[in-house]
Amino acid sequence: MDPANALILNVDDNDGARYAKTRILQHAGYQVAEAENGSDALAFVMSQLPDLVLLDVKLPDINGIEVCRRIKSSPASAMVLVLQTSAALTGRADKIRGLEGGADNYLAAPIEADELLANVTALLRLRRTQAALHESEERFRQMAENINDVFWTFSFPERTLQYVSNAYETIWQRSLADLCEHPNSWFDGIHAEDRERVHASFNQFIATTPYDEQYRIVQPDGTIRWVRDRCFPIKDGADRMYRIARITSDISEEKNAERMLKQADLHKDEFLATLAHELRNPLGPIRNAVALMQRAPPTEIALQEKARAIISRQVNHLARLVDDLLDVARISKGKITLRLEPIEVEDFIGAAIETARPFIDSRDHTLDIVLPERKIRVMGDLVRLSQGINNLLHNAAKYTPSGGRISLQVEQAGDETLKIIVQDNGIGISPERMTEIFSLFTQGESAPDRAQDGLGIGLSLVKRLVELHDGMIYADSAGKGQGSTFTVELPVLKQDAVA
Ligand code: ADP
Repeated sequence: MDPANALILNVDDNDGARYAKTRILQHAGYQVAEAENGSDALAFVMSQLPDLVLLDVKLPDINGIEVCRRIKSSPASAMVLVLQTSAALTGRADKIRGLEGGADNYLAAPIEADELLANVTALLRLRRTQAALHESEERFRQMAENINDVFWTFSFPERTLQYVSNAYETIWQRSLADLCEHPNSWFDGIHAEDRERVHASFNQFIATTPYDEQYRIVQPDGTIRWVRDRCFPIKDGADRMYRIARITSDISEEKNAERMLKQADLHKDEFLATLAHELRNPLGPIRNAVALMQRAPPTEIALQEKARAIISRQVNHLARLVDDLLDVARISKGKITLRLEPIEVEDFIGAAIETARPFIDSRDHTLDIVLPERKIRVMGDLVRLSQGINNLLHNAAKYTPSGGRISLQVEQAGDETLKIIVQDNGIGISPERMTEIFSLFTQGESAPDRAQDGLGIGLSLVKRLVELHDGMIYADSAGKGQGSTFTVELPVLKQDAVA
């Protein structure tokens, strides 16, 4: 501490002795205040809180040892250092009494200048170190209590728990009180399959053997949390480990993301396999048709016509696959822009039916259409909306054994909502698959006579397109073989909404 920043109260009733001590201290750069008796000294200490009191034992009113006791017993002034001094010939007994009264040190006369200064400096340095330690402990405590990770310390080599932060209660969902009572109970919260490994690893941890484990914690209600648990050696000046610091972090979210990433990767692999398969499928018939055209004489009109029809159908199918793929890629990257304008519902529904009709007919399905009597408009992109409805009709035809029944019903529900319902009596959807059919690359079972397979992107595409129109889509099915219903809801154009 810079002496100029330290305030010392010099208490002595002997003017000469007090003056001498003040001079020495001031000369060394300290700020010095003086008091001649115990009452004045106590009043000054309570109001000014000096850093140190140089306190003579013999005072006219209150004895110096009592003054010291009062300074040290009041919480407000207990931190004030007291350097007790006494006249010559004081015995050991006085010195001990002084220290027992709480003095930080004791000096007996004759007091030499260098001895006085050395003592004052040493005491102030000690106080500074204590204050810094206190502050650093407080900072550590606040940090440890406020982070989401559990911070622990254990003695070493006994591994006795010394400290654990509040986050233990959040991650383990067990009380700190319980842990303090049974310091090994944190092991009990670990998943049975991980416990032995963690136990062994933790007990083997020494400075040279790292401990960095990931394991599951089963909370009392059965919830599983993933944690990463690490230990670090704390060493003394001689490089000897005497304590273990440990940090346990909740990594459930990372684990979850990792799992989803793996799943997505798996999906992607499956998708690539399907894609290769799907792109190759139409090539066979096309190649055969071309061969047929080359072999058959041009006069065989019927054969030539049949071959051309095959090529045309397969090329359309290929184009549809590629278009869907491109759309998904564009939507995923947020690159699709809708050309929004007020459009007649009849128009985009009509366009969808027109596109889907040949496929529906090719599978001998009947298509019932119910349109609203009133003209309804939505704010939408005609091409995209008809593409979406076409996808639903196409699926209905695809996942229904030939000769089935498909219906398309468009109605206004309430004042502001348009409902488009596509229903079939096909293979249906099992409840457990309901949530995943709208995800990219997920596919269910094929219809027994399914003419063409898909890529598992159609529904995800429809969902995204509908959502871009501020609408939503959901599916219903009573189960396998019970047919499916897909409902799209779109907001009716504001000025057309019936008040
Ligand atoms: P794809 O038809 O290319 O497999 P979609 O994204 O269009 O991909 O559909 C995802 C899955 O949802 C299909 O594989 C199928 O299992 C199921 N699905 C879609 N529409 C129907 C439907 N009308 N009836 C039964 N299942 C359907």
